[in-house]
Amino acid sequence: MHILVCIKQVPDSAQIRVHPVTNTIMRQGVPAIVNPYDLVALEEALRLKDRLGARVTVLSMGPPQAEAALRKALSFGADEAILLTDRAFAGADTLATSYALASAIRKIREDMPVDLIFAGKQTIDGDTAQVGPGIATRLNMQLLTYVSHIDNVDLERGEITVQRRAEGGVQVLCTRLPALLTVLEGINEMRFATMPDMFRAARHPLAIWDREAAGVTDLTKVGLKGSPTVVSRVFAPTPRMHRAEIIQTQSDQPDDLVATLLAKMFTKFPDLRAAVRPRCA
Ligand SMILES: Cc1cc2nc3c(=O)[nH]c(=O)nc-3n(C[C@H](O)[C@H](O)[C@H](O)COP(=O)(O)OP(=O)(O)OC[C@H]3O[C@@H](n4cnc5c(N)ncnc54)[C@H](O)[C@@H]3O)c2cc1C
Repeated sequence: MHILVCIKQVPDSAQIRVHPVTNTIMRQGVPAIVNPYDLVALEEALRLKDRLGARVTVLSMGPPQAEAALRKALSFGADEAILLTDRAFAGADTLATSYALASAIRKIREDMPVDLIFAGKQTIDGDTAQVGPGIATRLNMQLLTYVSHIDNVDLERGEITVQRRAEGGVQVLCTRLPALLTVLEGINEMRFATMPDMFRAARHPLAIWDREAAGVTDLTKVGLKGSPTVVSRVFAPTPRMHRAEIIQTQSDQPDDLVATLLAKMFTKFPDLRAAVRPRCA
């Protein structure tokens, strides 16, 4: 079985700030990490490898620095890593990103057929959740989104059965391979890489593909040229005016707690006492 995992290097969104005057994203000094949802996808692929035996290839499109994300994936147990990097890919929106990734996957399939493609539910920077479905559509593959558990992979029958979290319940879906899965957060816990794993990953040869190697022939479909999305405005949400307050009390009796809380609220919102009194009478 050959499993492909799409991973994206993202800025650690917990540390991103929006410039108060220019409203542009301030990326300077913000560390790059592997998109956390993609680590969940990778772990799921590695568990299938442990259980059934598989070759796991990780694929990322990004600047040369995205190599670090791929090396991390190799340290966890991926077998091969491919970095798609070319100036022509810069400024890509989700349409252009899925085009470039799908072209590369077609190339990968020429060497070895791909049975499963894993992607994260979404990224923590772009947050669109469009790239996975975009790849599946371009490659005419079965698509299973919001997967919360893989029940079975039957290679003989060429089928996969998964649980998918849907509104109001869980769906059990069975479809034919090859398929693309986007997986939910929290369905597994990422393994640790040992020191020898990290050394092995650091020495592992990486495949670096430019647009030609990725089989991209139509340059109007990649990068900024292939991106119809327009970002009209970036802004930081207005900070909340009210902060939560922790109230310390001497007693843990419910009556005392309620009395302390009411006293605090009446002090803060004097009109509240008058509004509540007739109801209590
Ligand atoms: C006009 C415009 C210009 C932009 N310019 C840039 C730019 O210059 N540089 C930049 O970094 N971003 C740029 N972006 C953002 C870019 O659109 C997204 O980073 C990219 O398309 C992925 O979308 P997403 O982050 O919403 O991924 P989602 O659709 O939320 O990702 C879902 C899953 O798809 C996979 N995936 C997504 N992206 C990749 C990838 N690159 N490689 C491998 N797997 C992936 C992952 O498994 C991920 O979990 C630009 C966006 C617009 C609209």
